[in-house]
Amino acid sequence: MSSNFRVGVIGGGTGGLCLAQALHQAGVPVAVYERSGVRTDRLQGYRVHINPKGSRALHECLPRELWQTFVDTCGSPGGAFRFVDERLGELLSIEDDVTAGPDHDPTRSHHSVSRITLHQVLSAGLSDVLHLDKEFERYERAADGTITCHFGDGTTATVGVLVGADGANSRVRRQYLPEARRIDTGIRAIAGKLPLTDEVRSRLPEAVWSGPNNVLPPSGCGMFMAPHDLSESLLSTAANAIGGNDASAAEGPHFDNTTSYLMWSYAANNSKYPCTDDELSALDTRGLRELAGRQIAGWHPDLRRMVADTPDETVTLLPIRTSVPVKQWETTTVTVLGDAIHSMTPFRGIGANTALRDAQLLARNLIAAARGERELLAAIRDYETRMIDYGFAAVRLSLRTARQTVSNNWFGRSMFKAALRVFAMVPPLKRKVFADLGND
Ligand SMILES: Cc1cc2nc3c(=O)[nH]c(=O)nc-3n(C[C@H](O)[C@H](O)[C@H](O)COP(=O)(O)OP(=O)(O)OC[C@H]3O[C@@H](n4cnc5c(N)ncnc54)[C@H](O)[C@@H]3O)c2cc1C
Repeated sequence: MSSNFRVGVIGGGTGGLCLAQALHQAGVPVAVYERSGVRTDRLQGYRVHINPKGSRALHECLPRELWQTFVDTCGSPGGAFRFVDERLGELLSIEDDVTAGPDHDPTRSHHSVSRITLHQVLSAGLSDVLHLDKEFERYERAADGTITCHFGDGTTATVGVLVGADGANSRVRRQYLPEARRIDTGIRAIAGKLPLTDEVRSRLPEAVWSGPNNVLPPSGCGMFMAPHDLSESLLSTAANAIGGNDASAAEGPHFDNTTSYLMWSYAANNSKYPCTDDELSALDTRGLRELAGRQIAGWHPDLRRMVADTPDETVTLLPIRTSVPVKQWETTTVTVLGDAIHSMTPFRGIGANTALRDAQLLARNLIAAARGERELLAAIRDYETRMIDYGFAAVRLSLRTARQTVSNNWFGRSMFKAALRVFAMVPPLKRKVFADLGND
């Protein structure tokens, strides 16, 4: 290892920690600066769907035992992936022999992981690397090429390569790439979590809670539901163990890491809500849940009951924003990954997976540069060229899905539903639909 540079990562989230795990394991000096001191600083409530690309990235970046811990502490993402109408009439069901991935190999499969567990996995073994309560403010480049980061507590850190992994409102991006923008799509989602108790399992039809469901009403809105089922996981619930609860669980159900639940999310354009954006933002969690219930008033009673029975504290309003694709910039020793550059709508469940893919690729290239196998700027340039290509492809895909979900085009929605019914009769087409969902 001829590493003469130290990598500074701003942001200890999904992408930043995954990058740090890979670099640390390869012996490349790395430090992560994270603004939060405790987990309750941020919403941690909803599970993250990890697809095969995300699984491959985690498998490559994590030490072997930690990868196994990740697999053991995941919940089940459920079986068949279904498209249904608002009366729960089935349009298409993609069975679990397709959704489980080839040979049920965990490195090429789908996983449902709680955000808390994912964070526990990604930060394990990094106590010397991860610096908490370090809110990045700005950086300065010196004549010798080193970069000095300034933090809110008045301290500084000097690094050779700076990676902005500080999420959608990235300060690194704002300073480095001020032309990169995020916009409001006008879409507003209301999401909640219904605990999957025995009573709920017996009361609701199994198809509602046993796998992901995409609900397609005639037009103007949509709903996505997905289970996070821990009943068969190899979870250890010991306090502070990975997959277990920590002190943050006392803050309420959003921080409870050990309960199985059905997550739902209703989405529509802000014009479809019977109130202004300001009034919507001002609603408390009970008001949001009741509003979601009114929005689906004519839907199947089981769907209405699912929303009505959801604990208020788990309900959240999600204003949907997206980044605007940018052209490639001149490469330097400052770079960005994940939401810091290509934040996207949550409609395909691929933002975290894309951040993990960035971490995998950037780690490979930085490790090769540290070993003297390739020139540093060429390694970063290669990462940026590929990341901009697949990252903004994911942004466009998720935005298209978001717009289709809330589209007022009744005719287009009817044609799509008719196509799903045809696909339902042709197994190879089902596989294609599943791959097109961004799941390959
Ligand atoms: C409701 C919802 C559901 C989703 N579901 C999925 C899913 O199922 N699958 C999927 O792939 N994606 C999903 N996503 C998207 C996913 O959460 C993000 O794309 C992913 O977390 C991005 O990872 P990241 O590392 O780039 O940023 P983050 O995980 O947001 O991490 C950024 C980190 O930087 C820190 N930070 C910010 N500013 C500073 C600063 N100034 N100084 C220091 N630290 C700072 C933050 O505290 C944070 O820890 C979902 C998103 C939402 C909103």
